[in-house]
Amino acid sequence: MSKKKMPVKKLVKKPKIEKAKPRVEVKNEGGNGNKKTYNLLRGMHDVLPKDEKYWKAFYHSAENLAEHFQFGRLETPLLEEASLFIRSIGKGTDVVDKEMYIFEDRDANKVTLRPENTASVVRAYIMHGMWNMTQPIKMWYWGPMFRYDRPQAGRFREFHQAGFETIGDADPVQDAELILLAHNFYKDLGLPVEIHINSIGMPEERQKYKTALVEYYRSKRSYLCDDCKQRLNKNPLRLLDCKQERCQPIKDEAPQIIAWLEEDSKNHFTKVLEYLDEVEVPYVLRPSLVRGLDYYTRTVFEIYTVLAEGELPGSQSALGGGGRYDLLVEEMGGKPTPAAGFSLGIERSVTALKQYMDAKQVKFAVTDLDAFIAQLGDQARRRALKTINELRASGLKVSYNFSKNSLKGQLEAANSLQVPYALILGQKEVQDGTIIIRDMESGVQEIVDQKKVEHILKKKLSRFDGNGKKE
Ligand code: AMP
Repeated sequence: MSKKKMPVKKLVKKPKIEKAKPRVEVKNEGGNGNKKTYNLLRGMHDVLPKDEKYWKAFYHSAENLAEHFQFGRLETPLLEEASLFIRSIGKGTDVVDKEMYIFEDRDANKVTLRPENTASVVRAYIMHGMWNMTQPIKMWYWGPMFRYDRPQAGRFREFHQAGFETIGDADPVQDAELILLAHNFYKDLGLPVEIHINSIGMPEERQKYKTALVEYYRSKRSYLCDDCKQRLNKNPLRLLDCKQERCQPIKDEAPQIIAWLEEDSKNHFTKVLEYLDEVEVPYVLRPSLVRGLDYYTRTVFEIYTVLAEGELPGSQSALGGGGRYDLLVEEMGGKPTPAAGFSLGIERSVTALKQYMDAKQVKFAVTDLDAFIAQLGDQARRRALKTINELRASGLKVSYNFSKNSLKGQLEAANSLQVPYALILGQKEVQDGTIIIRDMESGVQEIVDQKKVEHILKKKLSRFDGNGKKE
């Protein structure tokens, strides 16, 4: 019997299909397996309730500074004409060339999600005739910005900035006031920062400097990294931003812009530094600091976290930055008007604050809650809801957790919220018309009349200073 030949499977080599890059970054782990679940777009992120305290703290810091230094809040739309940013930030910059969310709307207008807010602030200044009012006009903002950048740690496609702008005054004291504000924004929350500062002069000075810089770098061309070779032709000032090790010695020896500044720009810079000395804002002179956007003139600065000596923060990227932009208002169709401003990245600021607290092993003094109400049993729960509402109406902030039934669980919750007092209502207290006030630090408890709890609690809380510490 002849053996049946086994059919030979033809081996056809399948072409290798490149796996599409995942379009999302964060895995959705909450699905039930049956229905499609939704994820975030690449580079987007949620700000979760667990981080609310940090966001709130920074927001309060900005709001408080705005109030004390008299900056008015300006809200501009997220969507603007694309040319607004192309003209102000400048072609040849990363933001305009690579990172703008540009698209056509239904009327075929080219629009963009704002990549930054200074251009919008200047647009609003011109549009609403603010140049007719007493100068300078001081404005601040807080909100999301969008850049179609390659996402990585600390770099998102939607992120938030707080910013302050002073339009209509060329005096160096305005630069110093803004830098002081940026410094206080962090100092008020206990996060130490220092300012890196430079002057990039006016365009004529910068042009002469660029010529000298290009001449110097051309002579070293063969030693440069590929990016720097490109920068040399495209945007020579960015040569000073190079982080590649092989370019560092060349960068260190490069000509410095300070030497190209004329008398007026030099005087301006010296005065800014004198003011900073006066208000004791720590700064570092950084001749290589040029910033990424086109519109800056003279003063430019960036803000960095510093830990104690020898301790480096987790990341060395800037928390924020800014500078003077004396030509932008005119460039955008307004009258010649000097101006300066800065913006701070909130995501990076929150991360820096957390890293600092971890490194120093300090807890964030967050609680602005006055008490926690713990309840035991149905009647007590009813009474508790009433008490919470009454105390809220009297201006006290009270927390509670109706999903926990045990006293232990509720006191643990009170503890983690760092409230100074717990109010305890059980069956007996409801019948007696009383309530227990427990000092969360000492554990001492006292039984008081329910009608008097507001008065007694307020009296106890008045012994606390603003930082939640007992005097
Ligand atoms: P810039 O407008 O580029 O000077 O940025 C000012 C600050 O905004 C930076 O120092 C960052 O803190 C923050 N920032 C800028 N771009 C991003 C981004 N893609 N993701 C998160 N934060 C950003």
